[in-house]
Order: sequence, then structure tokens, then C-alpha cells
Amino acid sequence: MARTHHDEPSGSSTAWPVGVIARYRTIADATVDIQRTTEPDATWQPATTECTGCGTKRLFINIANAEIGTPANARTLTETEARDWAQQHSEKCRAEPKPTDVSA
Ligand SMILES: [Zn+2]
Repeated sequence: MARTHHDEPSGSSTAWPVGVIARYRTIADATVDIQRTTEPDATWQPATTECTGCGTKRLFINIANAEIGTPANARTLTETEARDWAQQHSEKCRAEPKPTDVSA
């Protein structure tokens, strides 16, 4: 009658790492995280994306200047590009995440 295992909740219940602003779930149940690494008012506004299935990483960056405008504009542009990539990648990536429990 006693339970020997905890039922692990499935789905997106794990805490997001610091700096992660968005997470997309792939068709193979991996995740694509978008992470921002600088202050909101920095001139350079980079964001990285990483797929936990296939390990693909991408860097997106926009710079606040005369053409793009304020740091907020650069950040919005970077996030839009990163989200577009994450959305497209999560729809086609079939790599499953590597199991983290190696003791089983
Ligand atoms: Zn992938």
C-alpha cells in the first residue's frame, strides 16, 4: 500500500533559470529557452536561445542607435527575433531532452 515513488508532475513545472524570459515546448517535449543577459537599459541588447533537445544555441542582438532607437526598442526587436526562432524551432525539433537521472 505504501508508495515508494513520488509521482513527478509532468509538464512545465520546473523553475525557470535566472534570466529566462520565455520558454517554448518542442514537439519532442524538450524546451527552447530564451535568456536575456544584460540590463534593460544597456545599449547592446542580446538574447540567447537554447534547445534542451538538440542543444542548438543562437545569439540575437540589437544595438540602440539612430536607426533602431532606444534600448527598449532594441530589446523588443531582439526578443521578437528570438521568439520567432524559438517558435519555429520548437515546431520541428524532434530531439528529446537528455535524461538527467542517470542513477536509474
Ligand atoms: Zn532542438
